[in-house]
Amino acid sequence: MPTVTAKPKKTSRWLRRGIQIFFFLLVALVATNEALSERGVETLSFIEGASLHAICPFGGVVSFWQLATAGTLVKKVHESSVALAVIALALSVLFGPVVCGWVCPLGSLQEWFGSIGRRIFGKRYNTFVPARIDKPLRYLRYLVLAWVSYMTIVSGKLFFQDLDPYYALFNFWTGEVALAGAAALVATILLSLFVERPFCKYACPYGAFQGVFNLFRVFGVKRVASTCISCKACDRACPMNITVSASGTVRDHQCISCLKCSSEEACPVADTVVLAAGKAEGKAEGTAEGKEAV
Ligand code: SF4
Ligand code: SF4
Repeated sequence: MPTVTAKPKKTSRWLRRGIQIFFFLLVALVATNEALSERGVETLSFIEGASLHAICPFGGVVSFWQLATAGTLVKKVHESSVALAVIALALSVLFGPVVCGWVCPLGSLQEWFGSIGRRIFGKRYNTFVPARIDKPLRYLRYLVLAWVSYMTIVSGKLFFQDLDPYYALFNFWTGEVALAGAAALVATILLSLFVERPFCKYACPYGAFQGVFNLFRVFGVKRVASTCISCKACDRACPMNITVSASGTVRDHQCISCLKCSSEEACPVADTVVLAAGKAEGKAEGTAEGKEAV
C-alpha cells in the first residue's frame, strides 16, 4: 500500500531556497564590489579582484574552443570561469542542470517573480502559451547557443554580454548595460508573471547547454509507477511543464533538477518521485505514455 503523506516534508524546498538566496547575494556582492572598485571606491578585501565574469561558468563554456585551438581565453574570461564550467559540467553529468535549478541568480529571480504571478493567476499561471507555439519555441535556446558560440569564437570576445539579462541584472545601475540587455531583463521579469522561467525555457544558451545532460545524467528524476496514484500533483508543480506523471525517468531536455515534483515536495506518496541512479521501478522508459516526457 503506498504511504500517502498529507504534507510532504519539503526539506529540499527550504534547502534549495537557502542556496538560491546565498548565490544571489554572493553574485550581487561580487558585481557591486567590482563596479565600485573600478570607480576607485575602497571595497571588501576578501573578494578583491573577483568579477562577475570570473564567477560565470558560461564564459568558460564559450572559451573552450579558443582554449583548445589557440591556448588563450576569450577577452574578459578568467581561468576561474573555466574551472567553474568544468565543475558545473561534472555536476550536470551526475545530476543534470542543478546549476539552473539551484544556483543561477537569474533563474531564482524569475522564480520569485513567478510566485507573484502564481498568486495573481492561480492554476492558470504557467499555462498561457499554447502547446503548438510552446513546443517548438523550447528549442529556440539551442539556436541562441549556436549563434552565441559562433559569434564568440569569431569575435574573440563575450558577444552575449550586451544582450544578457543576467549581466544587466547585476550592472543596471552602473551605466554599462546596453539597451538590448536592459530590455531583455525587463521582458524576462514581466514575462515571469505569466510564464515560469521564460528566459530558461526559451532563450538561455547556458540552459540549453546544461539541458543536453538530461539525456544521460547518472542520477535522474524517477517516478515509481507501482506506488503512483495518478494525482498529477508532480505535473502541476513542475515549473518547466514536464509531464512527470507519464514518465519512468524524466529525460526532458528542459528539466532543471529543481525536485519540485519529488516526494519531498509535491508528490503526496512517499518515495514515489525520487532522485536516483539506475532504472525506475515499474513503468519502463519508452512506453507510449513515458515517451511524452522523454
Ligand atoms: S521534472 Fe521535476 S526536477 Fe525536473 S524541472 Fe520538473 S519539477 Fe523540476
Ligand atoms: S508521481 Fe505524480 S501522479 Fe503519481 S502520485 Fe506522485 S504526484 Fe501523483
